[in-house]
Amino acid sequence: MAKIICVLYDDPVDGYPKTYARDGLPKIDHYPGGQTFPSPKAIDFQPGTLLGSVSGELGLRKYVESLGHTFVVTADKDGPDSVFEKELHDAEIVISQPFWPAYLTAERITKASRLKLALTAGIGSDHVDLQAAINRGITVAEVTYCNSISVSEHVVMMILGLVRNYIPSYQWVVKGGWNIADCVARSYDVEGMHVGTVAAGRIGLAVLRRLKPFDMYLHYHDRHRLPDTVEKELNVTWHDTVEDMVKVCDVVTINCPLHPETENLFNEKMLSKMKRGAYLVNTARGKICDRDAVARALESGQLAGYAGDVWFPQPAPKDHPWRTMPHHGMTPHISGTSLSAQARYAAGTREILECWFEGRPIREEYLIVDGGKLAGAGAHSYSTGNATAGSEEAERFKNDLR
Ligand code: NDP
Repeated sequence: MAKIICVLYDDPVDGYPKTYARDGLPKIDHYPGGQTFPSPKAIDFQPGTLLGSVSGELGLRKYVESLGHTFVVTADKDGPDSVFEKELHDAEIVISQPFWPAYLTAERITKASRLKLALTAGIGSDHVDLQAAINRGITVAEVTYCNSISVSEHVVMMILGLVRNYIPSYQWVVKGGWNIADCVARSYDVEGMHVGTVAAGRIGLAVLRRLKPFDMYLHYHDRHRLPDTVEKELNVTWHDTVEDMVKVCDVVTINCPLHPETENLFNEKMLSKMKRGAYLVNTARGKICDRDAVARALESGQLAGYAGDVWFPQPAPKDHPWRTMPHHGMTPHISGTSLSAQARYAAGTREILECWFEGRPIREEYLIVDGGKLAGAGAHSYSTGNATAGSEEAERFKNDLR
């Protein structure tokens, strides 16, 4: 029988919810483009409830225990004394989420001598040292598409929030003020601006589609070009390099995975090529941007605003400069874990586990690493190598709280 460790974020500070703001979720039956929703044989949860936190258990306990497996659920993931590290040595499966990543570094993979499957309940498996997983023959899978639309909505919200100066204006209201001039001295319309996405995959393309009705000029850079019909429909301009694209954009949104090719892509040099006063929105991964270079660009005015929900490491230490830099609109890593998204990734996680335990193949589009090489979605979108280095710093958040 297998041992499964499932690392999830903590419950709300006021306790696991007893009621919800809404009574259910809208009915949607497939993703744009036709990919079908997760299709497990059954689910043991109510869609629209909190599944991604420790008490939600992704709705998996009943199923996993009915097969006789051991199911350990914890939020305690960082440092040698953590539950995760203590339980890892004999685990066959690790389930983790990018929002609260259980970093599976090469050292941890070495300790986890029985580990066979690293399953991401979400999208983005950069918290796993993919090179180490390749070397050890560990399968890495994620629930491709489960929250891509959720993130694209967040990106649009953040672009509008930054450009229109929403957060500072909201804060004037809360402070009891009516300071119109203070609010609008940094407020613009997006209409007529040029917006570019780094990567036009599921999220990037959805962002472009959502911004088109705002009468913005659309741009993208990707390793593979969109079909001609899509380029024409959106009237979107492809750029051969990121540098070429950022030069002409007022707003840039990053939507590629983190892998060795994209790590630190937005460094001092790339930021200096952007238009003065551009806005940068990164909901992809924190490590794609140079932490200190972003803070400096905001201070100097090279960037007019930065927003996103991804940091490195996660959780971010209390003294992380992105918490306090000027003109930012950061949130914790939440864009892909709305209650709507949770229902899809919990079902997708169940589907992958059912395949694993029944010896059926996992959907090709869910695979990142399999059989000692990048596979499925991973072979298309990632490059080999490791992007988890430095994640031990996440332990500092724990220490901050002591
Ligand atoms: P997709 O796989 O659909 O899209 C990824 C795109 O990135 C592909 O088009 C790929 O190009 C492109 N890409 C990869 N490397 C490069 C590169 N070096 N330069 C330019 N483009 C590149 O994934 P999604 O759109 O669903 O998700 C993208 C990423 O967003 C995830 O990997 C994850 O990191 C992040 N994410 C964040 C979430 C959050 O909650 N904040 C939730 C979900 C995802 P091609 O395949 O053409 O080579």
